[in-house]
Amino acid sequence: MKDLKKALSQLQQQGLYRRRRCLQGPQGREIILDGHRLLNFSSNDYLGLANHPDVVRSFKQAADQYGVGSGSAHLVNGHSRPHQQLEDALAEFTGYPRALLFSTGYMANLAVAQSLCSQGDYIIEDRLNHASLLDAAKLSGGKLMRHLHLDYQSLEKKLQRCDKGEILVSSDAVFSMDGDAVNIRQWLDSAQQKNAWCMLDDAHGFGVLGNQGRGSLSEQQIDSSQLHIYMATLGKAIGTSGAFIAASEDLIEYLIQTARSYIYTTAMPPATAQASLSSLKLLIEEPHRQQSLRDNITLFKQLSLQAGLPVMPSDSAIQPVMIGPADKALAISQQLFTKGLHIAAIRPPTVPKNTARLRITLRADHTSSDLQQLVEQLHSLLKQ
Ligand SMILES: *Cc1c(COP(=O)(O)O)cnc(C)c1O
Repeated sequence: MKDLKKALSQLQQQGLYRRRRCLQGPQGREIILDGHRLLNFSSNDYLGLANHPDVVRSFKQAADQYGVGSGSAHLVNGHSRPHQQLEDALAEFTGYPRALLFSTGYMANLAVAQSLCSQGDYIIEDRLNHASLLDAAKLSGGKLMRHLHLDYQSLEKKLQRCDKGEILVSSDAVFSMDGDAVNIRQWLDSAQQKNAWCMLDDAHGFGVLGNQGRGSLSEQQIDSSQLHIYMATLGKAIGTSGAFIAASEDLIEYLIQTARSYIYTTAMPPATAQASLSSLKLLIEEPHRQQSLRDNITLFKQLSLQAGLPVMPSDSAIQPVMIGPADKALAISQQLFTKGLHIAAIRPPTVPKNTARLRITLRADHTSSDLQQLVEQLHSLLKQ
């Protein structure tokens, strides 16, 4: 048996030990963590919808009508009217014939690779893809090949190594720990060879990018007919939880028949689906949040450039500041905490060795003085 005490103390020595802090209240521009009031630069609730009154009200109303638990899997008797309405709304919003709900994004990603690929098949991924896409490939039994980050020639080289068998090419649309984005046109031109399935995970684009938050395809003016499989989550900009796959009628039906992470799990609570419908309505009717977020991204980039901060190249709401050693990133994050700023230190194995970083996520409701304070504090801590 592994010596767990020793393994844990090694993690501590390497600055890789993870500790949970306890949130005493909702997500917001400010949060209360372990009793401290902090400006929040670490949540994926980009638009502030996780605690929006309309979304909360829908959740409560649906709980009154449907109860809390869904009671079973979608295929048994857990598929309720709010689930169906949300699937229909998501299909229409993203421009696909159909959409299918999952309880989490992790499970949605597992579903696609496992349904389409098995031993003898190939899955080609950007090497910085989200862990759930990498795990999905491993679980499927297909051969995983990882290409260099955002390098489409490297992707083509991997494709040339595939012989017969299914091929799935998948990528984050906006990279979750880096904030940079795929050039979808170039990626598709390289990926659409050898009859490969192409899939994008738009967890960080859906809700914030494109017309009314329709996501990365809309942002980059790519028609949904060009991409076989579009995945996005509801736990980030949408402010609820869960995820969906949007695709053709046949692919969705095939997932319902074969995807184990769809079949063998309890459906999300109906109230979560109803609350997500409210968020979608807000996206469509009130585009000012996406605009405020864009303005905040522009302002943060300007301020951090002026201050000479080592910010990574990103135009998204994810603005990581590269630190390097894990213990240093952790120490700076802790110092920021004492100054009233919450910014998580992202360390290996979430990111490659020696690329620990402070992962700043911006929100629509941050004010310009919040951003000024952030940059000033970072500047003074990084100088030391
Ligand atoms: C958060 C995230 C997921 C997982 O979604 P959950 O709903 O949190 O399980 C998948 N892919 C990417 C790129 C993510 O950022």
